[in-house]
Amino acid sequence: MKPSPAPFVAVLELTLRCPCRCQTCGSYAGAARARELDHDEWLGVIGSLADLGCRRITLMGGEPLLYPRWADLVCAGRARDMLVDLISCGQGLDERVALAMRECGLHSVTISIDGLANTHDAQRRVSGCFEQALRAIRFVDQAGLKVGVTSQVNQGNLSELESLAHILEEAGVLGWQLQLTLPLGRAEEHRHLIAPPAMMPELLRVLRRLGRRAGLRPHLTDNIGYGTSDDIALRTIQGSFPRPWLGCRAGLDALGVGSDGRVKGCLALPDICTEGNVREEPLVAIWNDPNRFSYNRHYTPAQLSGACADCEQARLCRGGCTATAYAMHGKPGVSTHCFLHASATMVSTTREA
Ligand code: SF4
Ligand code: SF4
Repeated sequence: MKPSPAPFVAVLELTLRCPCRCQTCGSYAGAARARELDHDEWLGVIGSLADLGCRRITLMGGEPLLYPRWADLVCAGRARDMLVDLISCGQGLDERVALAMRECGLHSVTISIDGLANTHDAQRRVSGCFEQALRAIRFVDQAGLKVGVTSQVNQGNLSELESLAHILEEAGVLGWQLQLTLPLGRAEEHRHLIAPPAMMPELLRVLRRLGRRAGLRPHLTDNIGYGTSDDIALRTIQGSFPRPWLGCRAGLDALGVGSDGRVKGCLALPDICTEGNVREEPLVAIWNDPNRFSYNRHYTPAQLSGACADCEQARLCRGGCTATAYAMHGKPGVSTHCFLHASATMVSTTREA
């Protein structure tokens, strides 16, 4: 597939440091990586992205607020006309930080919340983490910035999503994104939390009920869904334009840079999908090399396997999320969690009943 001349969005992992030790953390965040990029190196990355024509960057971690000069990086992005978003666990995000976020021109803040208070605190392994996350949401909202929430969905919280919707709505959340917990990083040690394919029909039922809510409604991110007639509706960000699933965009118009300088099409991908390092060659050269990001740029249907190999929707879908396929099956182009199978199961169960 032909890549865009520029990544539309780049995700920058400012540091792997994090105050939480989440059971579900795909990148095993907590301590910093060895030799994380320094400030000049990050300014170079942002300058290269702007030179390429990238329009949007997302700062994440670990916890990006533990990178001391995060606000200066926001200013650097804004000075090159890029929108800058930030994803945080909300710890340490008080009124002063929220005002600094507004001052530096941050476009939006997304706080991660993975269940009701007890579940969230247990999965994050930080007591009081849920209440602090809600406080952070209110501070950001009061500062006049757009605030959203991202939630991982797993066996430990599916039954809580509908109760969580009310709480997030009352706190001032404008957008709520959902993603499946993947068996990566620390989550590999907590496999009992990973949703099995058999849980997908119930997840789809819950999502359809939430989709009919009058207030805050969640939307699916890249690693959930596919194939059903309501996929676009479930995937569309509330109040925004329709968002069809067009397959994995890693290396086509999406890019990630790790805190050690490693470049991948998406930071959720395994290390074998590393395309280079900004310390060793210019980011522009990495992006412009037609021989990199081969799983997408040189995609062929031969990469598909399992049910995806015979699927009528595979031409566009290409087997769902590449990182999920690697995490679950060790290769791209296969999904056992596709909602197409889930909805077929629901139809056959209804017929049998
Ligand atoms: S079966 Fe595979 S290719 Fe078909 S819609 Fe599902 S994930 Fe996509
Ligand atoms: S690997 Fe998955 S999360 Fe990453 S860009 Fe592709 S579809 Fe999206």
